[in-house]
Amino acid sequence: MLPISFEFYPPKTDEQRAQLNKTAARLKQQSPDYVSVTFGAGGSTLSHTPEAIQHLRGEYGLSAAPHITCMGGSREEIRGLLKLYRALGARRLVTLRGDLPSGMVSPGDLRYANELVEFIRAETGDHFHIEVAAYPEMHPQARDAHADLANFKRKVEAGANGAITQYFYNADAYFRFVEDVRAAGLDIPIVPGIMPISNFSQIRRFSEMCGAEIPRWIAQRMLAYGDDTASVREFGAEVVAQLCRRLIEGGAPGLHFYTLNLAKPTLNVIAKLS
Ligand code: FAD
Repeated sequence: MLPISFEFYPPKTDEQRAQLNKTAARLKQQSPDYVSVTFGAGGSTLSHTPEAIQHLRGEYGLSAAPHITCMGGSREEIRGLLKLYRALGARRLVTLRGDLPSGMVSPGDLRYANELVEFIRAETGDHFHIEVAAYPEMHPQARDAHADLANFKRKVEAGANGAITQYFYNADAYFRFVEDVRAAGLDIPIVPGIMPISNFSQIRRFSEMCGAEIPRWIAQRMLAYGDDTASVREFGAEVVAQLCRRLIEGGAPGLHFYTLNLAKPTLNVIAKLS
């Protein structure tokens, strides 16, 4: 099996903490390369991400990588977080621009992820392994696919070591993106982000926000299953496992699962890969 990683969001309530504990205990058995914890822009989860990182390392012995964003934050705040993550023993950061929460007007001191990567390198040298985001189906705010690729190049030239993609259900989009990146002279590993499907309306909502396309043949079958959640889950696991098989055969260097803090949908996919 290729290196795998799992993404979590930081729990804010006791109920969510219990859920993450259950999930972390189950997913740890898959021996992930690392787990990552998302970060809410504008300080909404300012203390929750470091807390989750500390917990996942301390209680489960997992190598835990915080996500860090620059949207809405000052250089001073980012400097403080870098210091904290070093103190917590983190060696890997998933580095993003983030999105401005509604109602917030100031974008912060750094505008784009490439500026954040540059800042982290200037502040901490080679201490952190830096992952950045990649968009095989294009970031929704990019002018066009060429401009988006140029931005990806800026992030790599600023010092990124690797990339994790936005999720997608069309393997060709990934292979084409990797080809374009290689043609641009960049050789960093690009790990596909995998979103298991267990709740179709939720995935459809996410996909509209982040610009990931759900192929019509998948959507139509999902809709036909309606409230038959067992069939939705089984079909979802099969579709996503098939995608993973194609990605592995095509040379993907690892798989990064968006778990939404649930173990089962991810484990159902992994079970079909062995
Ligand atoms: P950037 O690389 O800065 O790009 C943002 C947009 O700006 C793109 O359209 C790009 O083409 C354009 N652009 C870049 N530079 C320029 C320029 N100089 N001039 C004009 N346009 C430019 N969000 C969170 O809030 N917290 C998280 O923890 C989080 N985790 C994520 C993990 C992964 C693996 C992925 C794929 C996404 C994650 N996101 C997270 C979402 C992410 O923050 C959003 O997709 C955000 O809109 C873009 O972030 P980015 O780092 O890709 O931005």
